[in-house]
Amino acid sequence: MSNAVRPELRAALEAEREELARRLTELTADGSAAPDFDENFADSAQVAAELGENMSLAVALRDQLADIEGALQRLDDGTYGLCSVCGKEISPARLEAMPATPFCIDHA
Ligand SMILES: [Zn+2]
Repeated sequence: MSNAVRPELRAALEAEREELARRLTELTADGSAAPDFDENFADSAQVAAELGENMSLAVALRDQLADIEGALQRLDDGTYGLCSVCGKEISPARLEAMPATPFCIDHA
């Protein structure tokens, strides 16, 4: 597989990065806008549960964002499509399914 710059791929990764960043911003805004925990005990349990869900979601989104930023970095470096563990080429089918993956199928 060629490491030539693929503008469509970069554009797709950048679009996904923007989308993830937007969702993260929304989550963070929701969290900081949470009502006062002391006002109502019953409600605060519900709020805490929702904040917990948002936190797990935010962590997952940050992981995806880091993967995408890594993929964009590897496009710049010319190492995109190579496994970051063994250095072998990642199969095109796998890259198509998971464009941001830094690992070949053996190191997934
Ligand atoms: Zn590998």
